[in-house]
Amino acid sequence: MSATCVCGSDLWPYRGIDPVQQPTPMGHEYVGIVEEIGSDVTTITPGQFVIGSFFASDNTCEICRAGYQSSCRHRESVGENGAQAQFLRVPLADGTLVATPDVPSDDLLPSLLAASDVLGTGWFGAVAAAAGPGKTVAVVGDGAVGLLGILSARQLGAERIIAMSRHESRQQLAREFGATDIVTERGVDGVAAVKELTNGLGAHSVIEAVGTQESMLQALRSTRPGGHVGYVGVSHDVTLPGEEMFFSHVHLHGGPAPVRRFLPELIDLIWNRTIDPGKVFDLTLPLDRAAEGYAAMDERRAIKALLRP
Ligand SMILES: [Zn+2]
Repeated sequence: MSATCVCGSDLWPYRGIDPVQQPTPMGHEYVGIVEEIGSDVTTITPGQFVIGSFFASDNTCEICRAGYQSSCRHRESVGENGAQAQFLRVPLADGTLVATPDVPSDDLLPSLLAASDVLGTGWFGAVAAAAGPGKTVAVVGDGAVGLLGILSARQLGAERIIAMSRHESRQQLAREFGATDIVTERGVDGVAAVKELTNGLGAHSVIEAVGTQESMLQALRSTRPGGHVGYVGVSHDVTLPGEEMFFSHVHLHGGPAPVRRFLPELIDLIWNRTIDPGKVFDLTLPLDRAAEGYAAMDERRAIKALLRP
């Protein structure tokens, strides 16, 4: 492993919201150099610098070929093996891993690591929300995924991007990534603020990057009729009101991001230095101080902690 990191979703078990019964390997974001391959591996070779995502996929089944590798028929969780470690076993290596053109220079590591999950997830959120030229995009959530949803929407050509954030340092990064407007209100007031910025209609595209009841309703209610919600925050006890959905005329699409679909394009954008998603890492620690990274993210002192084995 060249680098790994702490994910916002690692905070659910850290906080005890997802129960943990026994010592459990953690982490599912990874970049590194191939040390050994299994006997069935044909395209990945030792010495390559590779990036994969949280689900291993064969990249050949009908679901993978349709671009939904995170629902692959032969899907396996890489996270179960624990990426916050010196070494990681990645199943289905040929389908899961993408090699970079060369071993990258050190300054590219954070951005390439971001592609493993948070960038790929933010990108899927923007694609699922149909962000593109002429669109106004609102982003619910100012964690790493929300911030990179902003970068993704900008890269996909969105005309206007509304970041919903209360934290000054995160607002600043949101603007660097392409946000044109900031909304600090939440709930009913947050929806009203988005409508005020959009002629009373709501945004064309809303990226939901939190996963709570409040954030999901915020997203649904901030979207105009005919608009799209891309939801990529891991859902926790969310119940959608059927009647409100029926009358909203909103498209809903999301789920665990098929990061593998986007990896070649994202690696290319990072490699030629078009985008710099690694800016979401505002704390770097050696692996044996991982616990400090969890605490800093839990207390929102850090956006995202990078760990160096
Ligand atoms: Zn598959």
